Amino acid sequence: MSFAGRVAIVGAGVGGLALGGFLSRLGVPFAVYEQARQFTRLGAGIQMSPNAVKVLRALGLERRIREFAFAPRSWSNRVWNSGDNLFDFIYGDEAEAKYGAPYVLMHRGDLHDALHSTVPAGSIAFNKTLTNLARKGGGYELRFADGSTAAADAVIGADGVHSRVREILLGPEKPRFTGRVAHRTVFSSALMNGYLVETCTKWWGPDRHIVIYPVNPRRDETYFVTSVPDPDWDVESWSARGDMDAVRRAFGGFHDDVQKVLANCPSVHQWALFERDPLPRWTEGAIALLGDACHPMTPYMAQGAATALEDAATIARCLAAVDDPGEALRRYEAARKDRTARIQLTSRQNSWGKGATDPGWVYGYDAFETPLPA
Ligand SMILES: Cc1cc2nc3c(=O)[nH]c(=O)nc-3n(C[C@H](O)[C@H](O)[C@H](O)COP(=O)(O)OP(=O)(O)OC[C@H]3O[C@@H](n4cnc5c(N)ncnc54)[C@H](O)[C@@H]3O)c2cc1C
Repeated sequence: MSFAGRVAIVGAGVGGLALGGFLSRLGVPFAVYEQARQFTRLGAGIQMSPNAVKVLRALGLERRIREFAFAPRSWSNRVWNSGDNLFDFIYGDEAEAKYGAPYVLMHRGDLHDALHSTVPAGSIAFNKTLTNLARKGGGYELRFADGSTAAADAVIGADGVHSRVREILLGPEKPRFTGRVAHRTVFSSALMNGYLVETCTKWWGPDRHIVIYPVNPRRDETYFVTSVPDPDWDVESWSARGDMDAVRRAFGGFHDDVQKVLANCPSVHQWALFERDPLPRWTEGAIALLGDACHPMTPYMAQGAATALEDAATIARCLAAVDDPGEALRRYEAARKDRTARIQLTSRQNSWGKGATDPGWVYGYDAFETPLPA
């Protein structure tokens, strides 16, 4: 018998919206509480690997995603100056047959819009910054910065890397600054004077890298994301603007194909990269964490949002299988912890694709086929 109480989802990011989409399909009552006043279209690309696309498929989004995403032939890994090939992850039909879904690259805003479309209008409350969460009666009371409250029988903290729900459950965290920053932007390919990026490429320098890819089938928008040493900048937020001249200097000497991308790029944002260890637990009673709130990771395997989607699918499966929400969420944690810890720790090494890499254990995973622990 499935859970029939009311679920509060804190955070309308990738994982929170996906969970809302699944709960809506299951007929479980829910509300999403989001701190932002409205959604804004961030200038960023996102890679969705086959394990993520299987979740998007279950939300009915596959056709839409194939229309707006770019399907690369490979993720090529090349030496920063010579352009010599280190290793290619081969995608396209071959990988789709092997892993059960395509590997696609897209604008983060398009992904977010697609996920938003799976949640009924009116189920997201904006301008609701969670400040506190406490037991009340048989369930929970959520308190927000505007003084309002809400009640729920189960609470999912999908509130990202600076999760307030995690802080309430486990206390303040102490992430380690890696001494590195990521710059990222999406800009018009027309600024590259006729040059078009063909596929996804990671250019590996001695102490820095840059990943470049188009974000739609027309390839008229290009995305890049970097990782560069910068011990003086430790702000973990995309609202900070970076300096494109500094980015060009940081990648001076990189291959001509990188110079063509950076030459006229108008602007960039930057985010300090932190490392965190796997958490001891993700649940307490009928409260659980999801996505970056419980397993934030460095972006080097492009698996943060993918694993948040897997989490959402698994929570929905557990709530559909068990009527006691605490029991359902404990099963969810048990089903997900080893996998996400392994990805977190592998990602930290920043060696994915630098040499021969078998991605089967990541891409072949199907959040709907994996047995749920008893
Ligand atoms: C440079 C970079 C590149 C990346 N590239 C990829 C990639 O290619 N592929 C991939 O799979 N992953 C990638 N990731 C990781 C991915 O962005 C995250 O893992 C993913 O967004 C996590 O989803 P989430 O739903 O857990 O959190 P988020 O998407 O961060 O959503 C959290 C939501 O909670 C809201 N919120 C926060 N606090 C509160 C509060 N107190 N009350 C109410 N609401 C709140 C926020 O406003 C936000 O809407 C990348 C990350 C970085 C830094």
